[in-house]
Formats: sequence, C-alpha cells, structure tokens
Amino acid sequence: MTPSTAPERKPSGTDPRPDLLSLIPAEVEAALAGHFERRKQPGYRADQVATWLYESGVTSFAEMTNLPLEERTALAEAFRLEAPEAETISRSSDGTVKHLWRMGDGELVESVLIPTSDRLTLCISSQAGCAMGCTFCATGWGGFGRQLTAGEITAQFRNSRRWAEENDYGPINNVVFMGMGEPLANRKAVHPTLTILNQGFGLGARRITVSTVGVVPGIRELAARPEQFGLALSLHSPDAELRSELIPLEKRHPLPELIDAIEEFVQAGGRRVTFEYTMIRGINDAESLAPALAALARRVHAFVNLIPFNPIPYQDWKPSVPARVEYFRRTLDEAGVSVAVREPRGRDIDAACGQLRANALVQIEGPDTVGSRPRARATVASPTGDGAGATG
Ligand code: SF4
Repeated sequence: MTPSTAPERKPSGTDPRPDLLSLIPAEVEAALAGHFERRKQPGYRADQVATWLYESGVTSFAEMTNLPLEERTALAEAFRLEAPEAETISRSSDGTVKHLWRMGDGELVESVLIPTSDRLTLCISSQAGCAMGCTFCATGWGGFGRQLTAGEITAQFRNSRRWAEENDYGPINNVVFMGMGEPLANRKAVHPTLTILNQGFGLGARRITVSTVGVVPGIRELAARPEQFGLALSLHSPDAELRSELIPLEKRHPLPELIDAIEEFVQAGGRRVTFEYTMIRGINDAESLAPALAALARRVHAFVNLIPFNPIPYQDWKPSVPARVEYFRRTLDEAGVSVAVREPRGRDIDAACGQLRANALVQIEGPDTVGSRPRARATVASPTGDGAGATG
C-alpha cells in the first residue's frame, strides 16, 4: 500500500506553510483557532481538524470530508501536512514490516513495525542517516543526510498506524526511537515529537522509548521532562576503551559521566532504563565482560537486552554463538539483573537499522561515495540539538 499524499508536494524546507504535524497540539489549536476566526467560521472547526489529524491520521486536508470544500481549500493554502511517500514496503516471514519513506526532498528514512504475540511496536527514525559513525551500524556507515523535522518523525507513526490498521496488524502499542539517527542529537525535533505522540496521538509516555548511544546533555533534558518516557542506552560494552572503538561518542561522553547521567534519569522519576547490548562474535562477547556489564546494570537497575548482531553489508562481523549469548544471560540473571535475549527481527528484509537506506544509497551513489558521507568523530550536536547535528 502506498499512503495517499498531499496534493502539493514540495521539499519541506522550501514550503512557507506551517506543517501542522510538526506543531505540538497546543500550537495546532492556537493556529487553527486564529485561522478559523479570521475566516469567520465556528470554533468547532478547529476540533474537527484536530480529530482528523490525530484520530483519523489523514495525510491531506482533502480527506477532512466533514468540512466544507472551501474550508479544506483554505486550510491547504494556509497549512501543510507532512506526507512522506512509501518508497518500498518489505514484509518479513516473521511478520516484521519495514517502510522506506521518501521525504519531500528525496531523503530516505526507515521505520519498522515489529509484531509480537501481545503488542505491535513501531521503530522510528529521527535523522536521515546518522553522523555518529558507530562501527556496527549500517546507518552509521551510510553517513549523515540531515535532521528530520518533528512532522517527518511523527509522519512515520501516522503513516505506519494507518498501514497497520489497513493490513490487520492492529493498533501500535509502543514506539521506540531506535531507527536511523541519534534522537538526542536532534532534540529540537524529538522533544516536540514526544509531545505530539503523547498528547496528540494519545500514546502513553511509558510506551515511548528514546534510544541513545550516550548524548549526556540529552539524557539530562529528558530527565527534566515531567512525562515518564523510557530511555534505552546502546551500551554494547562495559569497557570504555572497547566501547570507544564501537561508538566514537564514548570519547566525548565517557562511561562514568554517562552512567552518572543515567542514574540521575532513573532517580528523577523512578523510570526504567534499558541497556541494549549487541553481541558481536570475538568483538564484545568475551566472558570477562559479562560481570562488568552486570555491575553497571545493577547500579542503575537497568533491564538488559542481549541482541545477537544482525549482519550488515560491507562488514564481516558475525553474531555471537548461542552458547556465549546464554553465558551472558546466565551471568546477568545470577547477578540479579533482569535480562532478555532479543532475536533480531526481519533478517530477510534487511531490517537492521539503516540497512535499506544504505543499500539504496549504494544503488544511487556507489559504495565509495556513500562511505565518504559525513560522520562524527566524538562530536555532538549543539545543546538544543538543532543545526546539522553530530557532524565530524
Ligand atoms: S547505532 Fe545509532 S547512533 Fe550509532 S550510527 Fe547507528 S543510528 Fe547512529
């Protein structure tokens, strides 16, 4: 299915009309109230639009059929609705569905629907590409494109929810910011997106998890918010030296500083933190690392997800053997740490973070060009998370 799109489609940066999907609900309400007042329309028109926006998830004003035609036309002249198009839709034999979205300026962004027996999780992207340069990640390999707007991030949710409803996948129960990009390097867009998903689309804060490789100022900002959003830390090694080889940002925000920030986050609101630990054979799965991982997890009461490495193109690493994964699981369990082994999903559809985009970029630009795209070298975005983000 290809989601329907707004009639006028321009690159978002060149369109002067405010994108309603990028505004938090209070701003939408104010913008619509002013619009309809100027047009001498009754106040309930704003509520009608908000209902279409958040409950029906329409992608154009033309679909708001309980508004008079002239009001739909006037809305489309005054505002726009971000509406990325599905470039490809890949369905895995395990039920995982990956969308590759094409933004107005042609940038490609992925989101993944992951069904399990009792819930449907959506993994969304916060940046087109990523500048963090983590060595195990296809997105990092593909380099940084640009920051996404709040509307472009929210649109992945809105479009995916619509696709899920139309294809009998049911409602989306959880959203995780674990797709392409480092969310806390795009805080200017991610903070409003969290508000829009929570207050606009009605997704509980505890059902939304932001994943980071360790942007400490961003963790502190998230801790300062009143809502109980979840936090996942891509840890991947309890050893700072090894971690800095996997995640260049470790040099900028070393583990002791990072764990302090996580501790503050947990204490700020009694919130649960998850450690993500991708297990790569012969790289970060030495038996000696398991007790150190357990100690870090115990300190901040973190839940640990052990994830056997999902092989990516242009990188010959392999997943840890099952016996080693089990060793880590048992060591953590015996240390009193809550732990789960998460099987990679959608291997047959390149569902590893950034993989579809990396493949598409290679088709378009060739591997040498993609390999030279901007990457971070232990640098991070400005405190507000705006601008070009983590560039190196
Ligand atoms: S793991 Fe996350 S932060 Fe690192 S390169 Fe990939 S998308 Fe960026």
